[in-house]
Amino acid sequence: MKNYRDLAELIFPDVTLTIEDLERKYPPRDVEGEVTRFAPSPTGFLHTGSLFTSLVSRLVANSSNGIFYLRLEDTDTKREVPGAKETLVEGLKTFLVRPDEGFDLPKEKGNYGPYLQSQRKDIYRIVLKELVARGDVYPCFCTAEDLNKLREFQERNKMVPGYYGEFAKCRNLSVDEAYERISKGENYVLRFKSHGDHENKIDCEDLIRGHINIAENDLDVVVLKSDGLPTYHFAHVCDDHFMRTSIVIRGEEWISSLPLHIEMFKRLNFPLVKYAHLPLIMKMDEGKKRKFSKRKDPEANVSYFLENGYPPVSLIVYLMTIVNSNFEEWLVGKNVLDYPQFKFSFDKMSLDGALFDLKKLDYYSKEVIASFDLETLFNNVKEYAKVYEETLYELIVRDENYFKHILNIERDGDHPRKDYAKYKDIYPSIKFFYRDLYEDIILNSGISFNPKFDKTLIKTILEESLTLLSSENEQVWFAGLKEIARKYRFASDNKTYKANPNDYVGQVGDVAEMIRISIAGSRRSPNLFTSMMILGEKEVRYRIKFAEDNLL
Ligand code: GLU
Repeated sequence: MKNYRDLAELIFPDVTLTIEDLERKYPPRDVEGEVTRFAPSPTGFLHTGSLFTSLVSRLVANSSNGIFYLRLEDTDTKREVPGAKETLVEGLKTFLVRPDEGFDLPKEKGNYGPYLQSQRKDIYRIVLKELVARGDVYPCFCTAEDLNKLREFQERNKMVPGYYGEFAKCRNLSVDEAYERISKGENYVLRFKSHGDHENKIDCEDLIRGHINIAENDLDVVVLKSDGLPTYHFAHVCDDHFMRTSIVIRGEEWISSLPLHIEMFKRLNFPLVKYAHLPLIMKMDEGKKRKFSKRKDPEANVSYFLENGYPPVSLIVYLMTIVNSNFEEWLVGKNVLDYPQFKFSFDKMSLDGALFDLKKLDYYSKEVIASFDLETLFNNVKEYAKVYEETLYELIVRDENYFKHILNIERDGDHPRKDYAKYKDIYPSIKFFYRDLYEDIILNSGISFNPKFDKTLIKTILEESLTLLSSENEQVWFAGLKEIARKYRFASDNKTYKANPNDYVGQVGDVAEMIRISIAGSRRSPNLFTSMMILGEKEVRYRIKFAEDNLL
């Protein structure tokens, strides 16, 4: 008669090490704080929700002087997409969530590896050999067809679906039978023999949710697939134990598997990790909240933000507002780029799925862009344009210094300009600085002067405004402009005009608008005086003439 040990030897003849050897090889870490990890599956791209998870894990490690590492969970070979590993690694770097150790390219770093699950087969096999030898894991020979039949039967009879109790056919096979079938080369998987009872409830602890009372696991889940790779459940328990994770931070979709994971930790005599299940990021769609969808929401893929020219740090700062409810209050009066000094806390995490709010992202992104020094901003914009916006790139390289001057309008001083939420917003607002584009705007955009004013009057005012071009500063220039306004019966401000509209032709803003339209081809532009200074007197004269010739 064969026993469990014989079965373990038959399945894993080459495995000579034991769990104890692994405990020695991967000793508890000598670290003061929490050990957290980000464990994505390389199935395509970096999801905005996953970036959120990785950010929380990074912050928890930061706030406690701990370690944050990256592990790639590539055991689902069917779902794996070529290049996805690189995309994840690069994505984290780009969005400034840097792991202290773990999977990296070209070479991983850290003593708790390998950090790619497909390279950890030996570890799983050592643990599984022991579990088979203890009778805690058993081979299952059920075919896909058997399992389909089981599912149909359970559905028909409105039973809880799954491989458990009386339905777990192979759990009761004798060791001799299992031994013989494997020896004959029959296909099998390995299943975990649950001791749980679905009727019992257990208390679990979650760092965000507190107590969770949930039914015990009674499923005999697959732990090793026929391709020799483990399932998520088993790999999670082994890896987070031997990589010495202290807090598993993951999406709330895993709460339902918690009883299974707890049972596995117990049966393996591994101390239980702490868990934090993060709320999902939601989206408002026709008045209803729904999950962020890969298919429907382009912003579910972090590359959306890069393509649109959001600085990566903007997305991170925005996600921080979702991470902790007190973040925004903390930020008041600080520079937005000081966000890494914020102390994360699980208590301040909201449980209802956070709504992804592009308007709020824009608000913070404007703050971020305004906080960059000119050199940083210039380099970022140039890099963005090079990859994503050829037309803008072409303008930048025509004359980098000229572009820097344009970029710098209204940025120094106490109230820097905050009208760019993303680099994509720059081109439309600055293209008028380039003569060819300016002429095209005047000729083809349909812009016109306010028909309320007489054409000769406009021309006279424009000509006269040229005398102000030598003003040494904006105040002097504006005083001169008011002077001209007064001369032609325009009120010197809107309030005065509104009080007695019949006494005036218009107000000084109308006069400024005539100049703005002439030099920028638009009713809105960056600061008019600074724009004229950048264009230079000769160019302003040229443009006033060009506008007169074409718009009057
Ligand atoms: N690979 C799992 C996923 O991508 C990770 C879950 C976890 O963090 O444990 O959903």
